[in-house]
Amino acid sequence: MAKSEKPRESIALYGFIRREKDLCPNEYTFPFLLQACSKGLALFEGVQVHTHVLKLGFDGNVYIRNNFIHFYSGCSMIEYAEKVFDESPESRDIVTWNAMLGGYVREGRIEDVEKMFNEMPERDVISWSIKIMGYVQNGNLEEGIECFREMRDEDLVPNEAILVMVLSASAQLGMLDQGRFIHSVINSFDFPLTVPIGTGLIDMYAKCGSIEQARSVFSRMPKKGVCSWNAMICGLAAHGLGKETLSLFQSFLNKGLVPVNVTFIGVLNCCSRAGLVNEGRRYFKMMRETYGIQPEMEHYGCMVDLLGRAGLVSEAIDLIEKMTVKPDPVLWGTLLGACKKHGLIELGEKIGKKLIESDPTHEGHYVQLSGIYAKQMKWENVLGIRRLMLDRKANKSAGWSLIEAQGRTHMFVASDRDHESSFEIYKMLQVIGSRIGEDGYSPNVSPVLHDITDEEKANAVKVHSERLAIAFGFLIAGPEDCIRIIKNLRVCDDCHEFTKFVSKVYKREIIVRDGSRFHHFKEGECSCLDYW
Ligand code: ZN
Ligand code: ZN
Repeated sequence: MAKSEKPRESIALYGFIRREKDLCPNEYTFPFLLQACSKGLALFEGVQVHTHVLKLGFDGNVYIRNNFIHFYSGCSMIEYAEKVFDESPESRDIVTWNAMLGGYVREGRIEDVEKMFNEMPERDVISWSIKIMGYVQNGNLEEGIECFREMRDEDLVPNEAILVMVLSASAQLGMLDQGRFIHSVINSFDFPLTVPIGTGLIDMYAKCGSIEQARSVFSRMPKKGVCSWNAMICGLAAHGLGKETLSLFQSFLNKGLVPVNVTFIGVLNCCSRAGLVNEGRRYFKMMRETYGIQPEMEHYGCMVDLLGRAGLVSEAIDLIEKMTVKPDPVLWGTLLGACKKHGLIELGEKIGKKLIESDPTHEGHYVQLSGIYAKQMKWENVLGIRRLMLDRKANKSAGWSLIEAQGRTHMFVASDRDHESSFEIYKMLQVIGSRIGEDGYSPNVSPVLHDITDEEKANAVKVHSERLAIAFGFLIAGPEDCIRIIKNLRVCDDCHEFTKFVSKVYKREIIVRDGSRFHHFKEGECSCLDYW
């Protein structure tokens, strides 16, 4: 009964047995009771059970003690768990230590996790998995993967949960080398391609920019879950492979599978990237009417992007105004981009001003609005907006780019000179600059620079971080290697153009993952078709 959906009934039953039958509980009764209390989050009842345990003299039993640690940490009463852990150091086994470790992870107390892990007399796979989980849940993704490597060095066989966790960590980081390493570990143990592992691999490869590998895992999976399809559909969409995404979605439907919220994020995302307006409208309708899924911010985001790209700005505004939830400023930001693209000055001005009022510290809005003015050669206004931005100290959230090389991650910020190969990097950048210059590239900074002070000028021609990463990529990558870069902000127009030229002149594939999408540069073209 303790495992049932009505845990409180077993607690009541225990009370009844004690009162009416005068039966004596044994050491197996309490763990069951505690399980029931944990499930029902019945702290009060749990404490009562604890009192009984003490009264009946079962408190030296390790098994029972471990259950109390689990119970208290599950109820977020970590001090109680610590008390049980501390009060009798002689009756601890590995489960005791792991239970306490898990309690700290649940509280996000990562320093205590590390300290306790080092103090443990022995560690098993569970201990490692708890520590890795602590890092990953806390957002310390690189430490999580590092910890996985240490665990491998101890010759321990990872379990499925660990593998899924580190795959997700490397997907979030976008680090292909790390992901490949995890895949090689999976292969070395002949781990079966289960739904969680296969899905984790698809997601990792797609997010690390290797869609071919994602495809290959997907096709080899003996059994696929809806989540595996979702990972593949979203992955294809993020890579801008419109046709393939939709045909995969069609086979998904043909198999009689039921799409969920996430499936439609992938599908709509794909329609917006591929400019498939009618399809997008149709799937958006299908989602609500056939499958009864309420659109969330992401779905609206895709639709607004889709309509905005196609120049259907008023339809997009209509959609936003009919939303049942409060529109995210990002939606208006997307529309602002569309106004710039389609030269809708008045509307852009209106939206831009509204956005700046609602979030005066967001630098991107000023830049977009000044871009709209610049396109119209309204230099007075460009200047005004830039002054406003400086006055209000809009924090230019630091842009950075990452590149992986020989198992290390190299991070660059704009005009970075801290890297150990900085001298070579700038030299390389000069060489690249003159070669693509011969091919017709000219830096497109004039509109922004017109009529602004020298100091601002210097700032505006800062070498953006991805250029440094690309130059470094040329120094370290093999001649056939694709250069993969991850950056946190949107790619600027000029760097986008720059990278297109580099991919053409050097016949080199360059994949840039920015905040939301992939730019796959090849032979002078980008997969985003210059709209992002
Ligand atoms: Zn740039
Ligand atoms: Zn692009």
